[in-house]
Amino acid sequence: MRKLLIFIGLLFLNNLNLLAKDYNYIQNSLLVSNKLTLTFRDNIKNVKYFTIKKNGVIKYVYDIKNAHLLSGKTIKNFKAYGVKALRIGQFNKSTLRVVVESKYLLSKRYRVKNRTLTIYLSSHKTKLLVKKSKLKNRPHKKKKYYYNKKRHQKLIILDAGHGGRDIGASNRNVVEKDLTLSMTRKLRDILKKMGYRVRMTRSIDKTVRLKERTDYANRYKGDIFISIHVNAAPKKRTPNVRYEGITVFYLSTKNIKKRLRKRRTYYKSKKRYSEKAAQQMIGKWKSRHSKRLAIEVKKNIFRNLRKYYSVNDKGIKRQGFWVLLATTMPSILVETGYISHRKDLKHLQNPNYQRRLVEGIAKGVNSYFGL
Ligand SMILES: [Zn+2]
Repeated sequence: MRKLLIFIGLLFLNNLNLLAKDYNYIQNSLLVSNKLTLTFRDNIKNVKYFTIKKNGVIKYVYDIKNAHLLSGKTIKNFKAYGVKALRIGQFNKSTLRVVVESKYLLSKRYRVKNRTLTIYLSSHKTKLLVKKSKLKNRPHKKKKYYYNKKRHQKLIILDAGHGGRDIGASNRNVVEKDLTLSMTRKLRDILKKMGYRVRMTRSIDKTVRLKERTDYANRYKGDIFISIHVNAAPKKRTPNVRYEGITVFYLSTKNIKKRLRKRRTYYKSKKRYSEKAAQQMIGKWKSRHSKRLAIEVKKNIFRNLRKYYSVNDKGIKRQGFWVLLATTMPSILVETGYISHRKDLKHLQNPNYQRRLVEGIAKGVNSYFGL
C-alpha cells in the first residue's frame, strides 16, 4: 500500500505557557492514507461530533472538550482526497474544534483511543457522493423533455396492470394496482411532453378485464403497447432465484395456439377474434419488433436508474401473457420490481424513483422509433 505521509507541523513548542497546565493540546498530527490522526498530550476525554450540510458540502465537526490550540496558526496546504478544507480552531475557552469540509460522505466517523483522535477521510473507494444522494431525491417535475413533432404520428397504448376489484400483488397495505397506475400516469405525462399521442386502458382505479385492454389497444390501432406491472415472489420460492429487480417481457410464441385456446374459453371470446388475433400474434414482424422494443426499453431503464439507485437487472424474458398475445402491435410488459422485496418496495413507493424508471421507458420508446 502506498503510504501518504504528511507531517502537518502542529508542534508548537514555543507557546507552552499557562494553558498547557490546564488544557489538553495537539502535539502531533499525521495523515496516512485516508486517516488523519491527531495526537494529544493527554488522554482525550470527550469528543462531540456532528455534521452541517450546506450546498452539497458537508462540514464534519469534531469538538474536543477541555483542549486548547496553543497557537493561532491553522494547518496550511493540507491536501487529502475529497477534502475541501481542514480547519482547527479554538471554538470557545475550553473547546478545540476540528472541521473537515468534504463533498463526500465519510464511511466511518472517528475513533478516540487514549491520546489519539483518528478522523476518517474519504478515500478513492468512497462511493457515496453527496451530489449523488442530493440528485436522487431532487424532484424533476420542471424538467423539460425534448419535443419532436414527428412523434405525434405515433400512438402509444399504456396499460396500468390490474385495477378496481383486482388489486394485483400486495405487501401489507401496498397494492400493485396503485403502483402501476401511478407509474403509468407519469409515463403518459412524459411521453406526451415528448410529443407522442398516448391512450391508457385505464387512467383511474377501475376493473378492466384483460380482453377489454387488448381490444382497446387494437381498436385504436396503437403503434406500440406497454403494460406496467409489479412482480411478487411466489409462495414456493425456487432456490437460487433472486426475487428482486426489473424484468421486461415480450411475447413467446411457444405453445401459442394451446395457450390461446385456454384463454379463449376463459374469456369467452369469439372464435373469429381469436383466429384473427392468432395470425397477428404469430406474425414474425410483431415478434421481432416486440423484442427490439423490449431491448431498448430495458437498456434505457437501467441507463436512467443506475446513476441513482442500485437495481437488479433481471433482463429480457419471453412470456405468453395475454396482453402480449392478443395485441396486434409490438408489445411489452414491464415488471417494475418486486413488491415482496424490501428494497424494491421502497423504491417503487418513491415518486422520484417511479419517475426515473418511466423516464427510462420513454427514452427506450424514443430509441425504438429512432425519434
Ligand atoms: Zn401484475
